Amino acid sequence: FILFQEVLAFMICQKLSDFPKSELQKLMSRGNQLSDVGPTVDAILKNVLENGDSAILAYAAQFDKVNLSALLVTQKEIDDAISSLSPVLLSHLQKAADNIRKFHEAQLPKEIWIENTKGILLGQKQVPLSRVGCYVPGGRASYPSTVLMTAIPAKVAGVSEVIVCTPARADGTVHPLTLAAVKIAGVDKVFKTGGAQAIAAMAYGTQSIPKVDKIVGPGNVFVTVAKMKVRDFAEIDFPAGPSEVLIIADDFADPKMTAADILAQAEHDPNSISVLVTPSEAFAKKVLLELDSQKKAAKRREIIDAALLHSAILTVENLDDCVDFSNQFGPEHLQIMVDPKSEDKVLSKIKNAGSVFVGNYAPVPAGDYASGTNHVLPTSGYVRLYSGLNTMHFLKLITIQKISKEGLSNIKDTVVALAEEEGLFEHAEAIKKRFD
Ligand code: NAD
Repeated sequence: FILFQEVLAFMICQKLSDFPKSELQKLMSRGNQLSDVGPTVDAILKNVLENGDSAILAYAAQFDKVNLSALLVTQKEIDDAISSLSPVLLSHLQKAADNIRKFHEAQLPKEIWIENTKGILLGQKQVPLSRVGCYVPGGRASYPSTVLMTAIPAKVAGVSEVIVCTPARADGTVHPLTLAAVKIAGVDKVFKTGGAQAIAAMAYGTQSIPKVDKIVGPGNVFVTVAKMKVRDFAEIDFPAGPSEVLIIADDFADPKMTAADILAQAEHDPNSISVLVTPSEAFAKKVLLELDSQKKAAKRREIIDAALLHSAILTVENLDDCVDFSNQFGPEHLQIMVDPKSEDKVLSKIKNAGSVFVGNYAPVPAGDYASGTNHVLPTSGYVRLYSGLNTMHFLKLITIQKISKEGLSNIKDTVVALAEEEGLFEHAEAIKKRFD
């Protein structure tokens, strides 16, 4: 294994049991990438809170190298962008949107009405949030797919106003496919701003950008840390930062496919992480060789090399050890490529993962774009606390009770006894007075 490390000079490949504790800690904490950018983000948030649009325009010039005269994307810009695209590409976007809509409609909660005591009818209704802001990344790549993944579930839930913030390109335009996705998803307004300043704008409101109830969507470390810091002003979905994959694979997996999956995740961001855990040393070596040869042809080589520097291939004793490691790591994406006879057993033991992809023909990009599940998922181990983006993120639940005199009499003694024991005598009276 040392030999392979020397050959590749970038990726750790060794037995988990030999892995130094400090390296393991670094891998688990994703290199503390989120805490490193805290002071930069604080300064941006303060500037936007104090100076609104003028701060946003200055950051567009500084970070995105673009001088903008307005932040709002006009209807003409959207129409022109759509007419510049090929009908074939638009039909693929529509197909992806249809699959995403179907899956997220299936997630809508059912209305509840139960009578759990005679005369007491209990119900629950869902109410959509009023205004939601979707962050759509646009730094190192354009993410039209993220428009679909954020705005479609919001609209399925019934949110009346959905806005999008995304960085402008150097020529002042937004990627045409992003604007086509805006139209397909039914987004109400799009603004040209990215990074922490976009999150600040949606949380505080500026002259052009309205304050929203909730901010959703992924982004780089600046975006993610900004979301975590504006929670006093707007609800957020969860930290969804640089992408991660953990692959559990054994000799049944194909080394070529596995290496391709490692590279696919690594090309997102220098902070992205790909981890392979396998009980087979022979398989690990084959994947390393494949990686070495496939990455030579990769177009985003610089980003990939940086991401692979903190990625790892780890060998363990058996599949149970793979699952234990995966549950500790808590990956955003988990791929399981093992003997089909073991798939369900492995799956049943998974406790922490954003989205799980099972089988050799379930690579992460299928879910990134078109299968229908959501690609906005918690990173940095936050899958231990949060679920990936879903329709429920855009709904509030309101409980309802309809109680008849007979119903109240059925729980009267219980309420009175508990209220008096708590020392809340007027609570008890509010019940008793109804039966005087
Ligand atoms: P981005 O839109 O997130 O970030 C670009 C913005 O970052 C720029 O507009 C700029 O304002 C800001 N920025 C850049 N350098 C800065 C600096 N030095 N100081 C302050 N601000 C700075 O686009 P991106 O960079 O391409 O990142 C997209 C990210 O989204 C990737 O990390 C990708 O892995 C991640 N992603 C995550 C998920 C998920 O669900 N977790 C899904 C898709 C994408």
